Amino acid sequence: MDNDFPIVNERVTAYINSLAPDNSREIENIREKAEKEYVPIIKRETESLLKTLITLKSPRNILEIGAAVGYSALIMSGCMGVDSNITTIESFGKRVKEANENFAALGMQDRIRLIDGDALEVLDILDDSFDMVFIDAAKGQYGEFFNKAIKLCLPGAVILTDNVLQEGTIVESRYLIEQRDRTVHSRMRDFLYDITHRDDVSTSIIPIGDGVALSIVR
Ligand code: SAH
Ligand code: MG
Repeated sequence: MDNDFPIVNERVTAYINSLAPDNSREIENIREKAEKEYVPIIKRETESLLKTLITLKSPRNILEIGAAVGYSALIMSGCMGVDSNITTIESFGKRVKEANENFAALGMQDRIRLIDGDALEVLDILDDSFDMVFIDAAKGQYGEFFNKAIKLCLPGAVILTDNVLQEGTIVESRYLIEQRDRTVHSRMRDFLYDITHRDDVSTSIIPIGDGVALSIVR
């Protein structure tokens, strides 16, 4: 799904990103490799929001759905406290392997637990409780991820969901959306309606990056 006009003016985004302090060389190498191989890692402006939220919340136990090569998990691990841990889920074998290598290379293998499997199944068998969740996997399954993840959340937990505005195409009529993208488009709209109207969370949709939903569990 491509759109002619980005959610946020590109020059404004470029300016905001120019203000972001550099990550370590190791982290930047992982980003560069991922971008070269079209792995859909978080945008820089979203990364900065994620870091600030972790600092605000000081979560002890973070759940991530969609690890890819481990980039966002490593970003989160870089600003979480010494007693904090991350559980992240990835179903694509090649990425599981690369993520584990990246966690080990940065000495984070004991702080980040990567579960190899389909999050829809893994979430049913996890018995941990989490105070922060980052949802960043298959866009058509967000409703299910959210419903399963919230059952594992403590009151006050922060749930950040990425890519909810679909490069801005979320505002288009379904008839202007290519046939193959229509299911995801309508599911994402249903998802956004649900999380902004249900009683168990307070949600704000933020037009940053590809759009994020910030939900706080009541
Ligand atoms: N959070 C990562 C990017 C994740 S990209 C970062 O910013 O660095 C989305 C990933 O979710 C892909 O690697 C894809 O394989 C994985 N994914 C999609 N659906 C999934 C599912 N149901 N269970 C587990 N992983 C899934
Ligand atoms: Mg994303």
